[in-house]
Amino acid sequence: MLILVTNDDGIHSPGIVALAQSLSTVGDVVVVAPDRERSAIGHSLTLHAPLRADEIRPGFFAISGTPTDCVNLGIHGLLSVKPDLVVSGINRGGNMGDDLTYSGTVAAAMEATLMGVPAFAISLESPTFRLEDFTVAAQFAAGLAQTVHSRGLPLDTFLNVNVPVGKLAAVQLTRQGKRRYSDKVEKKIDPRGRAYYWIGVGELGFEDVPGTDFHAVSNGSVSITPLHLDLTNFRSFDELSTWDFNLQQAE
Ligand code: MN
Repeated sequence: MLILVTNDDGIHSPGIVALAQSLSTVGDVVVVAPDRERSAIGHSLTLHAPLRADEIRPGFFAISGTPTDCVNLGIHGLLSVKPDLVVSGINRGGNMGDDLTYSGTVAAAMEATLMGVPAFAISLESPTFRLEDFTVAAQFAAGLAQTVHSRGLPLDTFLNVNVPVGKLAAVQLTRQGKRRYSDKVEKKIDPRGRAYYWIGVGELGFEDVPGTDFHAVSNGSVSITPLHLDLTNFRSFDELSTWDFNLQQAE
């Protein structure tokens, strides 16, 4: 099994090092990852600048682009054969609920799915993020890689995996939960007297609902949410089909 490994925390982050090491026990691993932190870059693709690939050691390519660029470049440029699996992570911090579209970690798995390669994203929810914290999640990733490879994923589906630290209680199939975002924007004044702002600084909460990713992880279980790229809200069709959309065109 050939496994392409990427992330959004950058090629030097402890999470990807632990992941690559663990996955190398179940397959051949090539790491193609951003040369620096690219968290919260979402599904961004670099179309108007050149991309550089620097092989910093054998099988480790540092890319001057986004996680989505890495999957593209890995599959179409750097690897001579299509990988059997793409694994993205292990992200420093959970990727759950409404946060998923911000996540570069999740977007990399999305991109692989678009290219017809089975994929999962894996993130660690930990207060400390020491290197040893990643060990259990990395071991879980190796097992899951083998399962995905032997069973195959359902059509157009990829997995979003979130792992808590400590002894794991169970593995649960979950749905996306709901974030409670803080409304806080921090305003400061720079040394030249101009205002600047920080977003995303407030305390983040979540709705603690059984069956969700947040609930599983907060209760010590691994959360696996099957995702697909179709964002269509089919439940809204009944209501919206009663609207009069007022199509007006010049004769
Ligand atoms: Mn990240």
